[in-house]
Amino acid sequence: MTDTTAPAPTTAPAPAPGPPSQGGQQQGGPSGGSRRRGGGGGRFRRPRRKVCAFCVDKVKEIDYKAYTRLRKYTTERGKMVPRRTSGNCAKHQRMLTRAIKRARHMALLAFVAE
Ligand SMILES: [Zn+2]
Repeated sequence: MTDTTAPAPTTAPAPAPGPPSQGGQQQGGPSGGSRRRGGGGGRFRRPRRKVCAFCVDKVKEIDYKAYTRLRKYTTERGKMVPRRTSGNCAKHQRMLTRAIKRARHMALLAFVAE
């Protein structure tokens, strides 16, 4: 008779760290939804970064009389081209805005094209 006493693997008693915290329930409530995250798109990114055309030319002041140039920064309908499209820096875009408004006032540019 062979009595094989299988040694029962006793799991090491894990030391409980700290006192058992009570009432630590954090349930933010059963608020479903709000699953929208980002969404599709945004994958297309223009590879080349536009540089401000006025910075390139080292323009210090944008002359409203140079409306031929200003016209490039307006749409056909007479709206100003947004900065993300024109690629101008904030400083020059601001100057451009003023120049365009002046040019409009002087009837060099149209407020709105027909
Ligand atoms: Zn600039």
